[in-house]
Amino acid sequence: MKLVRLLANLGYGSRKQVAMMFREGRVTDASGEVLYADDKVDHADVRFDGEPLDPPQGLVLMLHKPIGYTCSRKDVGRLVYDLLPPRFALRQPVLSTVGRLDRDTSGLMMFTDDGGLLHRIISPRASVAKIYEAELGGDLRGDEAAIFASGSLMLDGETDPLEPATLEVLGPRSARLTLTEGRYHQVRRMFAAVGNHVQALRRVAVGGLSLDGLPSGEWRALSHAEVERVF
Ligand code: URA
Repeated sequence: MKLVRLLANLGYGSRKQVAMMFREGRVTDASGEVLYADDKVDHADVRFDGEPLDPPQGLVLMLHKPIGYTCSRKDVGRLVYDLLPPRFALRQPVLSTVGRLDRDTSGLMMFTDDGGLLHRIISPRASVAKIYEAELGGDLRGDEAAIFASGSLMLDGETDPLEPATLEVLGPRSARLTLTEGRYHQVRRMFAAVGNHVQALRRVAVGGLSLDGLPSGEWRALSHAEVERVF
């Protein structure tokens, strides 16, 4: 594939914009030698403004989502995609969120363009652990861990009981909850079902992958080994 098409597919700009970037000498090989729009060079040997290119397929990102951002491509207000470089909105194949967090939930979110991986993580059969920390409006009663672990808790409007979930008490009004499914507003509805109210909710890990000090609002690409920690 000609480099101009490769970079346009990766979202670096329209074909016309990318052609201009070549004329400006922003695309080089690893030794700094300028490359041209019609060159056909292995993706791994190309640099844009001195940086390696994003992978053409199999891109996986982790974002520390702040509260106030919606997991949607087009919605009113602030969107999680606004926290990523604009090229990620333009690239093919399209980058999607791996599941969703509510607007008022913060924490670890992932994005990928790999449909197979997305399915492996969010499929109910995969049972990937999603770990949340919740600050509550009222004191814990003491029976919540048993109720959540029972596998028989039924949420309003649902026809199937929830899978067993693990609750660890962190304080009188704070808890860590590990789920293996991802139903709509699940954590908030679970605490509502035991007479409490979630005031603040943060996802701290997905499987064995945690935010590892990534500051709120920032993202980074994940290596293959990091992605495998999810399972
Ligand atoms: N459960 C919720 O209630 N909200 C989230 O964002 C995620 C899990």
